[in-house]
Amino acid sequence: MTKRVTILGSTGSIGESTLDLVRRAKPGDIKIVSLTANSNAKKLAAQAIEFNAEYVALANHKNANVLQEALSGTAIEVGVGPEALIEAATRAADFCMAAIIGAAGLEPTLAAVDQGIHLGLANKECLVCAGDLFMERVKAKGTTLLPVDSEHNAIFQVLESDKPEGVRRLILTASGGPFREASIETLKKVTREDALNHPVWSMGAKISIDSATLMNKGLELIEASYLFDRPSSEIDILVHPQSIIHSMVEYIDGSILAQLGSPDMRTPIAYAMGWPDRMAAPVERLDLTKISGLTFFEPDTQKFPSLRLAREALEAGGKAPCVLNAANEIAVAAFLKEQVKFLDIPRIVETALDQHAKQSCFSRSPCDVAEIISTDNEARITAHEHIVSL
Ligand code: NDP
Repeated sequence: MTKRVTILGSTGSIGESTLDLVRRAKPGDIKIVSLTANSNAKKLAAQAIEFNAEYVALANHKNANVLQEALSGTAIEVGVGPEALIEAATRAADFCMAAIIGAAGLEPTLAAVDQGIHLGLANKECLVCAGDLFMERVKAKGTTLLPVDSEHNAIFQVLESDKPEGVRRLILTASGGPFREASIETLKKVTREDALNHPVWSMGAKISIDSATLMNKGLELIEASYLFDRPSSEIDILVHPQSIIHSMVEYIDGSILAQLGSPDMRTPIAYAMGWPDRMAAPVERLDLTKISGLTFFEPDTQKFPSLRLAREALEAGGKAPCVLNAANEIAVAAFLKEQVKFLDIPRIVETALDQHAKQSCFSRSPCDVAEIISTDNEARITAHEHIVSL
């Protein structure tokens, strides 16, 4: 049977890897329903034509005419603006890949959740900023949530989720990013290009910077807590520079189960898109005889305070993860524009968290999307103000 697939954020790194798998699938196995982008109209149009999409949506109105012109004369329907993204997410599909970057993905991803379909979740930020609400909606709609982040996908593959009492802890692995060995002195001078140059994974710009500050691991910690319903105290993080073990689950009998593979996002994407079956992925095969060693060590939260901040936000609960995420998005965007230094990123996040903690906004979780968006906006303003004051 043909699987109908939608990709939210198809022009990004995860979106392109997903389309690469679709391209290699047997003819007739997968039909592309909707594709979306923010402003990259040219790439979106090219993808829509290649995969004969039914519907495409561009979030930003700026390049709408480029998209409309490129697709004129085709049967592909075009939508523009935030409502068009919701339309893309709600068109009848069997699988939706949620691969928009940042909290901007929250509303379209929730719209896909409401369809009760199989959802591949790459967009961790939407779970970080709206964890309780998101997971309640997943349960209420009977949606099958398939984690795409390689760590969470690994845990999903080895977790006996129907016997939670047998699980002792989850162990998230981290490559350690490009500055694993760097001194604080070196970190002070890190440039945008240095930070974008991840030693193992090839990813979009925002997640590359998050990997360099270790905020990515912090966001993943929060993501894992909501996805697998585990408190912070039952989730450990270990730096594993080889990135061969993508994460592990330790059981109460002392067994540790791990998922191994080459560092290529097409493996977890194939797992999610193919679920409950296995789908072929053209990744480099792991040659166990060539692995000289697997090493693990504790992350340095003095050097990488973002990880500490994320754990504190998870433990504070309420709106704290939403504030953390929003402030981090603003800080990373400013770093990418070379307006702030690398070590300013966690400082901006910490200031936003401190300020919002003073307003005691961490006492309860946001009750609806409007409250999440308003908390997100306030945290962005606080972060902006801090950047201007630097
Ligand atoms: P990219 O930056 O490469 O792509 C982001 C996608 O989202 C693009 O299609 C972009 O469109 C679209 N987009 C950006 N801003 C908006 C907006 N305001 N409204 C609607 N659409 C928008 O990101 P990645 O593919 O690297 O990451 C996507 C998600 O997957 C993130 O949450 C990330 O944390 C997660 N992830 C990524 C991994 C990776 O290897 N890349 C690994 C694990 C998780 P346009 O092209 O027009 O800008």
